[in-house]
Amino acid sequence: MASSETNPTTVMVTGATGFIASWLVHDLLAQGFHVRATVRNMNKKEKYQHLLEIADKQPGVLEIVEADLLKPDSFTLGMQHCEIVFHTASPFLVSGIKDAQKQLVDPALEGTRNVLQSVNQTASVKRVVLTSSVVSLFTDGAELKEAGKEAFTEEMWNETASLTYQPYAYSKTLAEREAWKMAEAQDRWKLVVINPAFVLGPSLTPRTDSTSISFILNILKGQLRAGAPGLYFGVVDVRDVSQAHIQAGILPGASGRHIAAASTHSMLEINNMIKAKYGQRFPLAKTQLPKFMLYLLGPALGFNWRYVKRNVNVPIAYDNSYTQQDLQMTFRPVSETLIDQTEQMIAMGLVKG
Ligand code: NDP
Repeated sequence: MASSETNPTTVMVTGATGFIASWLVHDLLAQGFHVRATVRNMNKKEKYQHLLEIADKQPGVLEIVEADLLKPDSFTLGMQHCEIVFHTASPFLVSGIKDAQKQLVDPALEGTRNVLQSVNQTASVKRVVLTSSVVSLFTDGAELKEAGKEAFTEEMWNETASLTYQPYAYSKTLAEREAWKMAEAQDRWKLVVINPAFVLGPSLTPRTDSTSISFILNILKGQLRAGAPGLYFGVVDVRDVSQAHIQAGILPGASGRHIAAASTHSMLEINNMIKAKYGQRFPLAKTQLPKFMLYLLGPALGFNWRYVKRNVNVPIAYDNSYTQQDLQMTFRPVSETLIDQTEQMIAMGLVKG
């Protein structure tokens, strides 16, 4: 392969150790790109060993570079000669949050600012693909009816999350708004945004600290055996999210925000899709918990009364038609995503199959 200085398809992936970014790095390498993958700490090789192993089997070239969201300028050197920057790094935490400003908002917002300041200093960058989220569109399911809509669309913006109510959604909204502001202040590079719903599917690592991984692992281990909360969310396969990022990076006409969601399901429906394949092999939920139980149990499970009131037993829907058309892709069925993720967990010995 050509060296990084001459390869016209050098790209950067920030937060390359993550659940989504690992697939993105895998798919970019499979397509022959020269990938600069950023990690927080080069000495923690166990976090990126799987990427080195993937690179050995793919035609593309992988370089691991160190960069931290909270250190201004730490992305600039690694970005030299990159044409596309995929900015995925951001903490994805929905529980155990003690200091939302430090744990979520600072890395999301300052991190986006720092990455885009490096982009502004790097003449080769033509496009930035930002991993935002559907939580940049809304906080609570109840907002859909209040907006008089059938499905959430890309025109909507989250105006209800705050540092004290759903701070993860707040951090993603602030980061995406900042990215659009910085993109509009110049005309050399173009911003394209992916707004995934809950991302599930097989992981490329045995790591279990990613929310998307621990969610399914806990279900398979029986966390919901007493019943599933009546919570609804959109689901999308991690491999489709990776494809959406690549299409957003390479299609000349790709523009704007893109909802990435295959379909929307209750937690009980998710359990039932796993049960349809594995029967009684896992201690899955059999029923949906009544809403009053959530008012009682909610605080212990990490959601307050306001959240219960505005989300439990409130079905939602997403309109993914713009994404399918603009990014020229379709989404695989959620049952396939769940089965492939369960199979991967069995194969890696994370659960007994
Ligand atoms: P993971 O938790 O698996 O990965 C997060 C990545 O961000 C890791 O590489 C992590 O590095 C990195 N990171 C976190 N803090 C910092 C920091 N201070 N400096 C540098 N890197 C940092 O998350 P996902 O793969 O699930 O999420 C990736 C992106 O997708 C995030 O932006 C998330 O908000 C977004 N998203 C995820 C969804 C999902 O369901 N998974 C849904 C919608 C959006 P390290 O390995 O060192 O911890």
